[in-house]
Amino acid sequence: MSIASQLEEVRAQISAAEARAGRPQGSVQLLAVSKTFPAADVAQAYAAGQRLFGENRLQEAQEKKPALPGDCVWHLIGPLQRNKVRKALELGVALIEAVDSLKLAQAISRIAGELERTADILLEVNIDAEASKHGFAPDELRREWDELVALPHLRIQGLMCIPAPVDTPEGARPAFAALRGLAEELRARGPLPLPTLSMGMSHDYPIAIEEGATLVRVGSAIFGRR
Ligand SMILES: *Cc1c(COP(=O)(O)O)cnc(C)c1O
Repeated sequence: MSIASQLEEVRAQISAAEARAGRPQGSVQLLAVSKTFPAADVAQAYAAGQRLFGENRLQEAQEKKPALPGDCVWHLIGPLQRNKVRKALELGVALIEAVDSLKLAQAISRIAGELERTADILLEVNIDAEASKHGFAPDELRREWDELVALPHLRIQGLMCIPAPVDTPEGARPAFAALRGLAEELRARGPLPLPTLSMGMSHDYPIAIEEGATLVRVGSAIFGRR
């Protein structure tokens, strides 16, 4: 199947999941995760109307972004080292999705300030507390919340998660529900509206949408196997 037809299929699935969940059509954004795929593949998705792309390595984003039209919007979805923050901001990444510690958030705020900018970020949550993974533990996020929201050059747009691998898409539902619950709790605590919930990948994005995702990160279902 062509990238254009796979993209069309994913859009149809998103639309069906929005309808099942009683959510407005168009309330979920599709991030096409192009990591490991060449710029020529991204160009095919672009030709089919896709504008929002995700890369998980800064270096790959640095190579691909200049090769694509300037109206593409890029998210960085992988871990970011503090010594690469300046490069990420200079590249013009629209959203840094995987901010996984207070230290990293502080570094982004400081460097954004130096560049006279405000950086849009998501906080990655280790929602099912896998010891091996990145992200704030929920209690850590609660504890550090006041410090995070006080950082002057950040716009914290919401939360993201990568749940532990499970056998069936349905198996990820509790993790998605937990991330939504945590976002609701932090919204109630204030002062941020936290509009974005980034959750769901190729195998489970319809479930994530049913549980409140506003941004799904879909790679292989669009571009094929890596
Ligand atoms: C690769 C990746 C995705 C997309 O995964 P697929 O299974 O190919 O859809 C989503 N999120 C992150 C953080 C990734 O690294």
